Amino acid sequence: MTVSIRHLPIFDTVPGSEYGAGFLLHVEKTGYPETYDGVSTSKPELLEGVRFLTDEIKVVTSLRLGGDWVPCALCRPTSPKCQKGRLAYFPLEKTVCFVGRNCAQKHMGDAYNDAQQLWDRQSRSRAVIKRWADMQARLPEWEAFALRIKPVARSLQWMHEKLHDDAPEFALTAYDALKWTSGLIRAWEDIGVKDDAGKPILQHMELGKAEGWRFLRHDFRPLKTLQRLQATMKEAATALPVLTDSEDQETMMEIIRRGRAAFGVAKSLNDLDDEMVAARRFFATGNLRLFEAWFKSGGSPWSKLEFYRKANVIYLRSESERGAGYCNLTVLKDLDGEPPPRLEEFA
Ligand SMILES: [Zn+2]
Repeated sequence: MTVSIRHLPIFDTVPGSEYGAGFLLHVEKTGYPETYDGVSTSKPELLEGVRFLTDEIKVVTSLRLGGDWVPCALCRPTSPKCQKGRLAYFPLEKTVCFVGRNCAQKHMGDAYNDAQQLWDRQSRSRAVIKRWADMQARLPEWEAFALRIKPVARSLQWMHEKLHDDAPEFALTAYDALKWTSGLIRAWEDIGVKDDAGKPILQHMELGKAEGWRFLRHDFRPLKTLQRLQATMKEAATALPVLTDSEDQETMMEIIRRGRAAFGVAKSLNDLDDEMVAARRFFATGNLRLFEAWFKSGGSPWSKLEFYRKANVIYLRSESERGAGYCNLTVLKDLDGEPPPRLEEFA
């Protein structure tokens, strides 16, 4: 089926988002992009400053007479050409047209890329604005969670710093060794059999898995992480900048940045708490005993190691190529409490 050309140079300014929304409903119902109010099918000649009014869509062409594909204003305005395309506004022509997916990019070049970038930022900032109030309604719950885990964060960070200050040798050596095996501790066991050359045959043996060993990582700073999240929440409690100009990209980028930070807070709080729950297991008596078993197996990096807990104090005496380590580390009482239930994430 061929269609007659329709030329409607009626748009002095870019149509608002409700125009694009109405177009999508119309196409979903009818399958005819070219019959929506105000849509031209004439070929736009002046492409400069083009603006997109919708995402790329796939038209359900089975709704159309004969199942024909859709004409593309840019390359084939009167006969079937495409299924996928989007609505675009051409300011120098004052028209709105449906343009096919691949040829829009081909014909428009840089103008297409500029329009795409602007459209992306508009869509993303609109999405942030739309959910900002919902996010703010969740803030008190997130703030309370942060306050509840703060003593643990402070205690763990203090213990981390104390261990690194007193026995950097131990922390660095243990972390270096464990990061390659994700905490798995292996030893070689003499099984009492000798090879042809008379050397004992050693067998690989797993002693166990060290828990919470990421506590040793040099940049483990739970309190600092928590304070950063609290600052984000403080900012999230304030209003977004008002977007008065739909092409003000600087403000859009600010809105998008703030959205990304604020919407991710609940997940970051959960992740931080998970990390702290794991770190607390590092100080368990059994975990410390595993380090001593590692040393006794002869397969550890240390030439000397004592690592045990009595009541609330951990005693460490170590020696390796890096030097000697000595630390009496108090396990602070804040670590005794139960962690709070996980937050529902806001994604
Ligand atoms: Zn085309």
